[in-house]
Parts: sequence; C-alpha cells; structure tokens
Amino acid sequence: MFPFPETACGIMKKDIIIIGAGPAGMAAAVYGVRAGKSVLLLDKTGFGGQIVNAGSVENYPSFKKITGAELAAAMHEQALDLGAEFRTGLVTGVEDRGDVKIVKTASEEHEAKAVIVATGASNRKLGVEGELRLTGAGVSYCATCDGNFFRGRTVAVVGGGNTALDDAEVLANLAKQVYLIHRRDSFRGDAATVRRLEAKQNVEFVLDSVPVEIRGQFMVESIVVRNKMTDEEREIPVNGVFVAVGQEPDNQAFTNVLRLDEAGYVDAGEDCLTGTPGVFVAGDCRVKKIRQLLTAGSDGAVAALAAVDYINANS
Ligand code: NAP
Repeated sequence: MFPFPETACGIMKKDIIIIGAGPAGMAAAVYGVRAGKSVLLLDKTGFGGQIVNAGSVENYPSFKKITGAELAAAMHEQALDLGAEFRTGLVTGVEDRGDVKIVKTASEEHEAKAVIVATGASNRKLGVEGELRLTGAGVSYCATCDGNFFRGRTVAVVGGGNTALDDAEVLANLAKQVYLIHRRDSFRGDAATVRRLEAKQNVEFVLDSVPVEIRGQFMVESIVVRNKMTDEEREIPVNGVFVAVGQEPDNQAFTNVLRLDEAGYVDAGEDCLTGTPGVFVAGDCRVKKIRQLLTAGSDGAVAALAAVDYINANS
C-alpha cells in the first residue's frame, strides 16, 4: 500500500483512539462504539492492514471465500456505520498523562481516555544484495498488487507460509513459470494449497534453499539461491521476485507506554493489557502464537472491552 496523505481533522477528543485499522483495530472499533464509547480509528495508510493483499480468504467463518480487500471493506463499513470515525495519519507517539492519553501524528495531537495499539506488522525483508535496489523494478512484496505485470513471464516467490503459497497460486495463473523458493523441505502454510501447487505444471519447488542475491542491472534478471544441504549455488533467470517471508512489528514509537519483547512485539497476554493503565494492545503487533485474521479480530474485541471497563471505572 502507498502512504496516504494525513487527513486533517483538527484536534479530536475521543473515549478511545485505536492506532491501526486492520482487522484487530476495526473489530475493536465495532466493540467500542457498540459499548457506547466514541471511537477514532487512525491508520498511516488506509484501512485493512495486511489482509487487503490476500487474494482469497477461505478461513474466516461466515464467508466460504472472499477477497481480503472485500472483507476489509465490509469491516470498515460496519465500524463506520456504527459510528466510529476513521482518519489517516502516521502516529508518531503516545503521551501518557494519566487519565488522558495524547496521541500524536505528524501534524496533530488528539486526546483519548484510552488507547488501543493495533499496528499489526509489515513485510520482512530478505536482506540480500539487490533486494532494496530492485524493489519496484521486479522485486515486490505483494503478488495481488503487482502480479499482473508478470503475465507470461517468469517469477520467483520466496517463503513457505500461507502468503507465499497464496502468492505462488495467484502467480501460477498469470506467469509462464513460478519458482517457489523455501528454506526448508516442508511448508509452514496450508497443506491443501501445497497440494494444489504440486499439481500445477508451471510451478517448481526449490526447497532447502536460501536466496543469496537478486541480480539485474535496471530490472530483476535472476535470483541466486544456495542449497543448504549441498552448499551449491544456482542462478535462476527470473523477471520478478515476490518476497513473502513473514512480517515484522513496528512498535518502536510506543516504547514509553509499551513493553516490547526482543523481536519488537508488545509483551502482553490474551487479556490485551499492557503495563500502562489505559493503553491496550490488539492483533499481530502483540506477542502471540497464532496470528490469524480471526485471532486479530478476537483481540480487538478483548482490548476494546478492557478499554471500556477502564474508562467506566475511571470516569
Ligand atoms: P509466516 O507464516 O510467518 O511465514 C513466513 C515464511 O517465510 C516461513 O515459511 C519462513 O520459513 C520464511 N522465512 C522467514 N524469514 C525468512 C528469511 N529470512 N529467508 C527465507 N525465508 C524466510 O508469514 P505469512 O506467510 O506472511 O503469514 C502470516 C500469517 O497470516 C500466518 O498466520 C498465515 O497463516 C496468515 N495468512 C493467512 C492467509 C489466508 O488465510 N488465506 C493468507 C496469508 C497469510 P520457516 O517456515 O522455515 O520459518
């Protein structure tokens, strides 16, 4: 997603400000407004978070199959119809003044009685030579967004989780040839998708292999991988490289009000409480075992209800 300009809305005073409008944040908004609280949802880009890039979601109860973008739009519409407000703006920090929290964006400061941090996570980089230089010139982090540019061409997908498998499936329907490069010999993602990919003539699994370099003068021309078992290197000619090796949290702006673990995730349990009264956390940005749409949404509900209890107890 490209950054959106900040929506100027003047200083707002709300019961709850939610930072991040992914599934966790939007679920929290629904629960917050339904409990009678005023809610502002702030997001640095648009609504939906990571899920907008999922071409097909088949594990969200109530929909057999829906695109991530459609699901995000439905969640957003529901939250807004119930009375939540939505604004774009990059939150640069939260100041804890006890009963009042100040949520700062690049140009504004808003007041809230409670804050829910639902900032999710962003795409992890491979960290290999050529990756950054060729980003936008054949290196992509979103098959749904960029796959169409590779119609009839040859691409590599790196990763072994559901995102990589979904990306490989999307690309297999567009590209001439897809190499799915994974660092182990078994996949983390769903077995059903692996089976569908195995049946495709134009998909080759390159297992036990790690990328070491992405080559190309102006555009991607090849990816070099090293087999971990044999140490042999192989240069695979490709026009595009889709990196799908998971996400990383971005909570550094909130270290004054949140405890983070070594990986940068918010150190909070299933109750979504942080060490700071009035500051709550929900979704993928928190330490948790299962990061799914459903668990993000469920965190949103837990965090919002905790925020409501906190506000009621302190008003
Ligand atoms: P993920 O499940 O964390 O998978 C990341 C993959 O990248 C893993 O296979 C990992 O290998 C590999 N990897 C990590 N760092 C690497 C590196 N430096 N070099 C090479 N490979 C590396 O992330 P995800 O696939 O983005 O999925 C995130 C969450 O969203 C998951 O819970 C997933 O199930 C969910 N999701 C669901 C759907 C859907 O339901 N349709 C779609 C997309 C995502 P190892 O396996 O060896 O660790």
